[in-house]
Amino acid sequence: MSIINMALVLLTAICAFIIAALMAEIWGLGEYIGISLVIVIYLCLVGILTLIQSTLHSRRPPRPVCEDGQCHWNDYRLVGCHSGNLVWKCRCGNKYAKSGKRFLKLREDGRRRPFMVIGGHHRWEPDTRNL
Ligand SMILES: [Zn+2]
Repeated sequence: MSIINMALVLLTAICAFIIAALMAEIWGLGEYIGISLVIVIYLCLVGILTLIQSTLHSRRPPRPVCEDGQCHWNDYRLVGCHSGNLVWKCRCGNKYAKSGKRFLKLREDGRRRPFMVIGGHHRWEPDTRNL
C-alpha cells in the first residue's frame, strides 16, 4: 500500500467518524448507527471504484500484437508450456511465453527474449529489461 493510499484510508476514516458524529448530532441517530451507515456507504464506494478500475484494466488485450505486427490477441493459439509458463503461437508461427506481466519471445533454440510487458498504464509496452 502506497503512502497516498494510506493517507486516503486515514482521511476516509476521519471523515467517517466526523460524518457519523454529525448524523448523531443532527438526526439524533445513535453514533453506532451513524458509523455503520458511513462504513456501508464507504464499502459501496470502494466496490464501485474497484469495479470501474477492473473494467478499465480488462480493456487491455490479454496478449500484445505479435512481433511481425500481423496478429492480435485472439490470433494466438495455446500450444504448450515452457518453464512453467504458457506458450502461445501466433499465425505467423512465432512462439511466445507469458511470464507474469511479461510476454517473452521464444526463439528457435528454446531461449527466451524480452518482447512486451504490461507497463505502468496497464498497456503493453516494449520490454527493455533483461531476463
Ligand atoms: Zn503473428
